[in-house]
Amino acid sequence: MTSDAEGAAPAVTGRCYCGTTTIRAARAPETVAYCHCADCRRVTGAPVAAFAAFDEDGVTFTPDEGRRVTVNPGVSRSSCPHCGSPLAGRYDYLPGKIYIAIGLLDQANDLAPRLHSHAGERLSWLHIDDGLERFGTSARARLGDDGK
Ligand SMILES: [Zn+2]
Ligand SMILES: [Zn+2]
Repeated sequence: MTSDAEGAAPAVTGRCYCGTTTIRAARAPETVAYCHCADCRRVTGAPVAAFAAFDEDGVTFTPDEGRRVTVNPGVSRSSCPHCGSPLAGRYDYLPGKIYIAIGLLDQANDLAPRLHSHAGERLSWLHIDDGLERFGTSARARLGDDGK
């Protein structure tokens, strides 16, 4: 194992439900965010999704990223072809970034979300009392802002 030039964070690893697809990110995520939008709920099946944002070029899927679908223009999402676990999302307005649901990641316990996006679509009975910043929509300015 080699470490980053900065000697900073080790690689992040993960896998889908069935284990067919494994994930490795060479660098720590730039940010981690909850997303309360209805699309993320449907993709993950959970009342709220939480994603880690990585530089796309540092992320490897083995054997590959599986099946990619686009339902809404500008967004593509992939899933394991065997078990259907959601693997990653890409958004045209956040070029070069890839979003991976933190539930797939072995280090999820160390990847605490830093903000809530699409907070306006939150399920009314879901209350997360964490004091994090809330964004009514995508928080895209913030998510695209390196180093925060
Ligand atoms: Zn799988
Ligand atoms: Zn979402």
